[in-house]
Amino acid sequence: MAQFKTEVKKIGVFTSGGDAPGMNAAIRAVVRAALTQNIKVDGIIGGYSGMLEENFTVLGLRSVANVIQRGGTILKTGRCMEFLKPEYRAKAVENLRKQGIDSLVCIGGDGSFTGALALWNEHQFPIIGVPGTIDNDIFGTDNTIGFDTAVNTGLQAIDRIRDTAASHDRLFIVEVMGRNSGFIACSVGLAGGAEEIFIPENPITVDKVVEKIKAAVTKGKKSSILVTAEGQKPGRAYDLAEQIRKKSGFEAKVCILGHQQRGGSPTAIDRILASRLGAAAVQLLLQGQCNLMVGADGERIVTTPFDQAINTEKHVNKDFTNLASLLSL
Ligand code: ADP
Repeated sequence: MAQFKTEVKKIGVFTSGGDAPGMNAAIRAVVRAALTQNIKVDGIIGGYSGMLEENFTVLGLRSVANVIQRGGTILKTGRCMEFLKPEYRAKAVENLRKQGIDSLVCIGGDGSFTGALALWNEHQFPIIGVPGTIDNDIFGTDNTIGFDTAVNTGLQAIDRIRDTAASHDRLFIVEVMGRNSGFIACSVGLAGGAEEIFIPENPITVDKVVEKIKAAVTKGKKSSILVTAEGQKPGRAYDLAEQIRKKSGFEAKVCILGHQQRGGSPTAIDRILASRLGAAAVQLLLQGQCNLMVGADGERIVTTPFDQAINTEKHVNKDFTNLASLLSL
């Protein structure tokens, strides 16, 4: 965390990295919380690229009307490789200052926060981070914006798959997103009644799963659903299906949910989280605080310095996988 003394007159807000449902609700909160305090807001289009290309847009009160329910991000997002180089970050700061932007709210994941940290360390440019990613893999907040929506989207898919799995007495493997973390898989698996959940953080052997499926079959169970995280190693859903077939003869159908988990209207939980964190980010800037991420710990708003948010691992609750396995007798 750091303190700065310059007066906040114009905040720049941007979304960066992977998009997540609820980012628009966070943008809306930033804009409205700032404008009610007579602070101007510019949107930066396309994340860090927008700073380099001077792609700025004035955000007035009405510019964020009717966006709270929309997935994706009205400010666009993207990945900007130039930003890894200090000379481009210097250019970005020059462009921001030319535009009259004196502080930033960055809505994104830990990659985006690494860029934000560099802007503070190298140029003392004040930034607050708002965690927006479906993966929920950021330390310093119970949940990230977009996670709850992604879990519910995955869950709807599981419920539908369960209908067909039960009708055909089939074994299904459903692969969910989450990069190298198993947060989405754990929640979707437990809420969806999966027989087993494969996550990178808690590897289980195919032999154990095969044993379990065989035992279930002898007990009269005719269909099963396994949930696997995309980062599960070794092998993703198709490899897993192949290994199960080789070891047991069971044919598993594979369903990869993919990018549909990124889209859709945000849930109430994500809209509320985004509204709280977006408004809190503006308040923190007005108090002269920066170089930190704002998060939620239950009902409380909490802050975590960027370097701690970026460098501390957030652990999945392994009890979820054990419980899913226990309850799917
Ligand atoms: P996320 O924010 O969702 O983790 P990325 O890891 O793709 O997404 O990061 C988004 C953007 O943040 C990158 O395209 C780049 O512009 C910037 N960024 C990521 N890592 C760094 C870094 N080490 N230094 C400076 N900027 C970075």
